[in-house]
Amino acid sequence: MIHKHDLIIVGAGLAGLRAAVETSKYADVGVISKLFPTRSHSGAAQGGIAAALGNEEHDTVEWHVFDSVKGSDYLGDQDAIEMMCGEAPDAIYELEHLGVPFSRTKDGKIAQRQFGGHTKEIFDENGNSKRIPVLRACYSADRTGHVILHTLYEQCVKSNVRFYSEYFILSLIMDEGVCKGLTAFNIRDGQIHTFHAKAVMFGTGGYGRAYRVTSNAYANSGDGVAIAFRAGIPLEDMEFVQFHPTGLYPLGILVTEGARGEGGFLVNKDGERFMKNYAPTVMELAPRDMVTRSIQTEINEGRGIDGKDFVNLDLTHLGEAKLKERLPEITGFAKTYAGIDPVKQPIPILPTAHYSMGGIPTNLFGNVLADEKGNIVKGFFAAGECACVSVHGANRLGTNSLLDAVVHGRRTGKTIVKYLRDAEFGTLPANAEEKDIEKFKKLYATTSGENADKIRVRLKEEMTNKCGVFRNEKDLLSMLDTIHELKEKYKNVHMMHKGKVFNTELQEIIELGNMLEYSDAIVTGALARQECRGAHWRIDHPKRDDVNWLKHTIAFKTEKGIELKYKPVKILKYQPQERKY
Ligand SMILES: Cc1cc2nc3c(=O)[nH]c(=O)nc-3n(C[C@H](O)[C@H](O)[C@H](O)COP(=O)(O)OP(=O)(O)OC[C@H]3O[C@@H](n4cnc5c(N)ncnc54)[C@H](O)[C@@H]3O)c2cc1C
Repeated sequence: MIHKHDLIIVGAGLAGLRAAVETSKYADVGVISKLFPTRSHSGAAQGGIAAALGNEEHDTVEWHVFDSVKGSDYLGDQDAIEMMCGEAPDAIYELEHLGVPFSRTKDGKIAQRQFGGHTKEIFDENGNSKRIPVLRACYSADRTGHVILHTLYEQCVKSNVRFYSEYFILSLIMDEGVCKGLTAFNIRDGQIHTFHAKAVMFGTGGYGRAYRVTSNAYANSGDGVAIAFRAGIPLEDMEFVQFHPTGLYPLGILVTEGARGEGGFLVNKDGERFMKNYAPTVMELAPRDMVTRSIQTEINEGRGIDGKDFVNLDLTHLGEAKLKERLPEITGFAKTYAGIDPVKQPIPILPTAHYSMGGIPTNLFGNVLADEKGNIVKGFFAAGECACVSVHGANRLGTNSLLDAVVHGRRTGKTIVKYLRDAEFGTLPANAEEKDIEKFKKLYATTSGENADKIRVRLKEEMTNKCGVFRNEKDLLSMLDTIHELKEKYKNVHMMHKGKVFNTELQEIIELGNMLEYSDAIVTGALARQECRGAHWRIDHPKRDDVNWLKHTIAFKTEKGIELKYKPVKILKYQPQERKY
């Protein structure tokens, strides 16, 4: 079956829906999502969305820019960061006007809280400049993503966006370098459909599911990133995977940084607030990469609680009323998943794979880039976590990613509206669905072969152990061997369940193929990058190396394997300095 829309957006998270709100005023828009839209991972975002509104105390866009550049360990492109932070206040007020119920200050303004790495400049008695945490994250209790997602969804329904919920996309349709649509299957009945469009936009989210310990939803299997890679589009900075400091032990379910923003302490087995040894000025509110490494070091050196793989996040001093008002969601999570009442007991936490800084390369306008030189792919756009603009560089600051999704979703929408003015449908290449139909036939015909579960468990386990918080050449080489071995096995994977209706095994097998595809790019990039920068920490190359590595990785899929090229970082005002907090 063929569906035709001016624009097909894949992904109903904040990036996809914000672009849909922007474009649906002018064009016929279809949104495809493998989940019901409001189940997208954006809805799980707890802590907040950054903007220098200055509602609670003085703040400036310039400070937000500086913090984001420094937080990115100087790998973020400064033109993109300036643009994101500059557009942030307007984007937030726009959300407010669309109906997002933000928490409020006493005088009715949007309330703001502290988050790691977001600072203001003060001067001590000797006139020396010093940076301390600032109230910059706009929030709605600890359900910020949820309320924004629901509001945007309502706006899309209002403007007649056509939703294809529970459709799973398989491949892009490229014709002589131009994107003309895509193929997808309907999860409800296993039928393959073709979507023909003048423009396609990906807002397909992150790739944290390649790790065993992760805060990501099951859906975050990085499909869009892998599908673009397979279609000949390169991937940027894939080695930069953020590990959030506070995942609930042992699964890694997120405990928002907002908990530390509200005053939570991190303590080791001796009851010591160990962050004083790592980031004495901002303590628990250092950027994520630093807090994560500090926790992992405490655990590795035997100072985990009872010698185990976790430390404690103590919120007991905040009191029941504050926890109820500001952190109700995570209070509930701790009770449900760990049997802990945070009012009375500390929460056991460990670092958890959380955010994908890398992804599909785009320019500031949401055009997908075909190479390291900046040439664009006609008809193809991307925004949100699947894209790499790059505003987060080597380490994203908390609350900057909802912002990235909203600001770039909106910008990309505007670019697409302009593009659609002269764009045409063109003709689809013959048999656009053929490859996917063959793939499905092959899976349905299997009677024996490799077990997908075993492949998945091994990939996730080894990615966590060998390509996690601390990395070294030996482990990365071994991880690469594992991936190549698992990719071979995957070619003979056996699908046991042959049903057509909601065949979740089929879906999981396709997701596994995608995970193997981009994990190769993560590890290949990590092996090549012989330095420590942001979230990428090579214990065998323990320093940041600006002479050789102040550059973006651009990975290409070739017949001989992954080929890496590089492109320079855009540096404007802020020259790289040592990152101390
Ligand atoms: C637990 C948690 C808490 C977070 N808290 C915060 C926070 O407080 N502040 C902050 O700034 N950031 C936070 N983040 C990060 C932030 O939520 C995400 O980066 C952001 O929401 C991503 O939005 P998105 O629109 O790019 O993708 P998502 O919201 O992940 O949406 C992806 C969409 O793509 C669709 N999709 C994917 N693959 C396919 C396919 N094959 N076929 C069809 N559809 C597909 C999915 O159905 C979904 O609709 C948090 C992340 C997590 C995991």
